[in-house]
Amino acid sequence: MHCPFCRHADSRVVDSRTSDDGASIRRRRQCPACQRRFTTIETASLSVVKRSGVTEPFSRDKVVSGVRKACQGRPVSSDDLALLAQRVEEALRASGSAEIDAYEIGLAILGPLRELDEVAYLRFASVYQAFDSLDDFESAITSLRAEHAEQAGRDSRADVEEPDGS
Ligand SMILES: [Zn+2]
Repeated sequence: MHCPFCRHADSRVVDSRTSDDGASIRRRRQCPACQRRFTTIETASLSVVKRSGVTEPFSRDKVVSGVRKACQGRPVSSDDLALLAQRVEEALRASGSAEIDAYEIGLAILGPLRELDEVAYLRFASVYQAFDSLDDFESAITSLRAEHAEQAGRDSRADVEEPDGS
């Protein structure tokens, strides 16, 4: 890495430190030409390509603020939102690409949000997927209902199969 002061082509690492959350490494570097020191921060790259073509670093805060409105009045805490944003980031990183479309973030939000709160999920999905009729709501609700039924079916089968301890 070249020196930001004199543009010398090389620099020497004098100290490396991992951040508390382990998400980045700070390195103190020294330029062998002008002897000045500077710091670099290394993180695993994850950038978002917006519809305008502009690229910006992925931000959990933006995920939270994007979802918060849909969660108004719902029993969702800021811890829940922080965890949701973490799950979204993990899912996006797991895709393996360093650049993702803004649209994919919305997609990655839908699953965890549905598990968190179905009303908030419907609100978010209606805006994000541009529901424009009652039919759209109806089919989203139908698929939620189908999942509930499936879940209930699994639960009752589990009751039957579970050995009776008494
Ligand atoms: Zn220098």
